[in-house]
Amino acid sequence: MLDPVMNASEIWRAVLGRLEINMDRRNYQTWLSGSHGTRMTENSFVMSLPSPFTIAWLERKKYSDIQNALHEVTGKWLDIQMVVSDETEVDVNNHNQATRRTVQDISDSSQARSDTGSKASTGFGPNPKYSFKSFITGPSNIMAYSAAIAVAEAPGRDYNPLFIYSGVGLGKTHLMYSLGKLCTEDGLTVRYASSEQFTNEFLNAIRNRSTEEFRDRYRTVDVLLIDDIQFLMGKEQTQEGFFHTFNELHNAGKQIVITSDKPPGEMGLLEKRLLSRFSGGLVVDIQPPDYETRVAILTDKAINQDVRIPDTVIDFIAKRVQRNIRDLEGCLNKVIAYSQLSDVSITLDYAHEILWDVLSSAAIDLPNAQSIIRGVCNHFSLPEKQLLSKTRIRKISLARQIAMYLLMNELEMSPTDIGRLLGGRDHATVIHGVGKINGILSEDSELRASVTDIKDAIFASSAAWQEPGG
Ligand code: ADP
Ligand code: MG
Repeated sequence: MLDPVMNASEIWRAVLGRLEINMDRRNYQTWLSGSHGTRMTENSFVMSLPSPFTIAWLERKKYSDIQNALHEVTGKWLDIQMVVSDETEVDVNNHNQATRRTVQDISDSSQARSDTGSKASTGFGPNPKYSFKSFITGPSNIMAYSAAIAVAEAPGRDYNPLFIYSGVGLGKTHLMYSLGKLCTEDGLTVRYASSEQFTNEFLNAIRNRSTEEFRDRYRTVDVLLIDDIQFLMGKEQTQEGFFHTFNELHNAGKQIVITSDKPPGEMGLLEKRLLSRFSGGLVVDIQPPDYETRVAILTDKAINQDVRIPDTVIDFIAKRVQRNIRDLEGCLNKVIAYSQLSDVSITLDYAHEILWDVLSSAAIDLPNAQSIIRGVCNHFSLPEKQLLSKTRIRKISLARQIAMYLLMNELEMSPTDIGRLLGGRDHATVIHGVGKINGILSEDSELRASVTDIKDAIFASSAAWQEPGG
């Protein structure tokens, strides 16, 4: 029970003692050796950790174990808050060299050895652009990021295969390369192939009767990265080849990482047995980034190019390009390149002028208030009239509150404008409604799925650039 003079750091040490007994040793060292107890209040315990991916992993896997151990030590059920520590020091004594790394370690060593990992025969030459360090995280991608780091730290162990899926331009290849780079730095042989490349090599091998050589090439690697596996759909012979390669590597404890533009379950023309192999590992997705993450990405990319961009321009691009990080980057680069060529400083007007044609093309979409209302009504099969009416029937109120939430988050409309639009409600009602949805979203995966579906439908249907709210 709680000794009154114990401070947070002593409590944490006692908790660690308990956790260490019950956890796999390697996991314990990987995820907990850099942790500290920083503060305890009446109801909560704050612990600091070296990185967001450590937090993501612990929250997902060990939250209740930590809570139980804290209960044993303090006699209280405490809320646990995990924060990133600002100290970059890692406790060297507690540090298992083989498995434990921080993001900083990763970036330093990749800079120092960015060329050594390149092996022509494996199809994998680390691209300096793709590293964990340059990957900006947010709620949309933190799980995929954490999984990629975990795999890079212990390839072939817990998550095999790792299957990452998302729409285009959201960072699958970036993560896959970062993972591969780290593995080559640890002396492993990594082979990267797009599924088209795999197909070509496989068919050539059959044609040239060199299948033995093909198999050797693939089965001798420690880590196999297959990018965009969706292109294997419908190619039965190649799938067969891939299945055998997969099994050989998997049985030998070698790591396989696969990316795709859809989840395994939606890859209709893929062999059942291949699908079930994929589902046997860890499947993670990457969602389009939220506004804050888009701003962080743009800011980071501008800093990397040593260019100062006004916040208004960052905000302008971040609001208009929502679904694809490659496009986000493309817009930024276009503005920078033009301003440097014509020696003009970057202003909001200038960005408007340069990006007008790109942003009004169908490639980049932005919803407007009308498309959001329509999307919500379609999803709930409601006539628009009802959404705007005074009725408080539960289903309709919920739909209305989701509309409020989307109007605020996607278009950044003011509560007053939203209230006016949704049948003349006051701004307090809107704030309450948005708060309620935020609350439900954090715990209700069904509602989260609904909101994602609505957003997908809205984005798919809105093609041209429109003024927010217009
Ligand atoms: P995908 O393979 O999913 O189509 P990519 O990995 O090729 O996407 O990413 C597209 C571009 O966006 C790349 O230039 C990549 O570096 C960049 N990118 C994607 N996600 C991030 C991120 N989270 N932080 C920084 N850059 C990113
Ligand atoms: Mg890709």
